[in-house]
Amino acid sequence: MMVIMQEAATEEQVARVVARVEEVGASAHVSVGERVTVIGVLGDREELTALPLEAMPGVERVVAILKPYKLVSREFRPVDTVVEVGGVRLGGGHFCLIAGPCSVESPEQVLAAARAVKEAGGHMLRGGAYKPRTSPYAFQGLGLDGLRMLAAAREETGLPIVTELMDPRDLDDVYEYADVIQVGARNMQNFQLLAEVGRRAKPVLLKRGLSATVEEWLMAAEYVVKEGNRRVILCERGIRTFETATRNTLDLGAVAVVKLASHLPVIVDPSHATGRPELVLPLSLAAVAAGADGVLVETHPNPEHALCDGPQSLPTSAFAEYAARTRELAAWCGKTLG
Ligand code: PEP
Ligand code: MN
Repeated sequence: MMVIMQEAATEEQVARVVARVEEVGASAHVSVGERVTVIGVLGDREELTALPLEAMPGVERVVAILKPYKLVSREFRPVDTVVEVGGVRLGGGHFCLIAGPCSVESPEQVLAAARAVKEAGGHMLRGGAYKPRTSPYAFQGLGLDGLRMLAAAREETGLPIVTELMDPRDLDDVYEYADVIQVGARNMQNFQLLAEVGRRAKPVLLKRGLSATVEEWLMAAEYVVKEGNRRVILCERGIRTFETATRNTLDLGAVAVVKLASHLPVIVDPSHATGRPELVLPLSLAAVAAGADGVLVETHPNPEHALCDGPQSLPTSAFAEYAARTRELAAWCGKTLG
């Protein structure tokens, strides 16, 4: 439930409400807005309903959250969540450009990509060391060696690393090297994995499942936040539809819907959504216009020789121009870069 405080409520009155709900074993999450303070309360429904919170000094009203997801809902926390990683901010008006190769292939390849991303004003480096491939015969990633190559690229460029964790058995290795833990589309409903990353402190980039509804996606984020990790970044990466002109169908409507329904930041991956490099710029611009807090883009120094997703990757030689256009629109829309 939500406890909405009066405009004139004092900090002491807020503290008293928090103490009262905690007495019955519930948790309170305070959001201080420009005008009013809202306290999101999670706990036993019957016990909470029995509490006379509405009679407490400073309380305006108490409302129930009817959505199946609570902690990630906008009602629970009206203020945008801003995720901070290594000096870069994402969400709440901060826009991030995250880019890099689909998979880490060699120290030279990842460094070349990282330098291009850095020079173009990108904010984070992406790259997979553990790859979720449809075919078991396709390149599966370099694993721990790949993580080390990413860390070397971070060492040189200062760019925080985003990389995918597929299997809880790789948790310690991935946490040793990554700054942001990606949970891929195929693992969006791997509830044990979600709970594991929820118990750890690093931010989680949660991709939307291939055929997940917005509600299922937000419920997946709820699994992470419920364990205590509030730093979740949602990523729309296209969904399966009847349309075959693009690899998936980019659902920008979902971005606008999620911005209303949740306080979590939302970014867009136009590379996996379209599978076509010539569509990456127009759909990035559309993503910015739809309210996205960032983009996640694949770029490779030599796409024709890429071991994974070459056909959809922007060549690094074209990345600066792409980044400039995207950043320009983001700034025009009033976003702060990084
Ligand atoms: C990726 O980002 O490389 C990836 C595999 O993405 P998705 O999980 O969206 O398919
Ligand atoms: Mn890829």
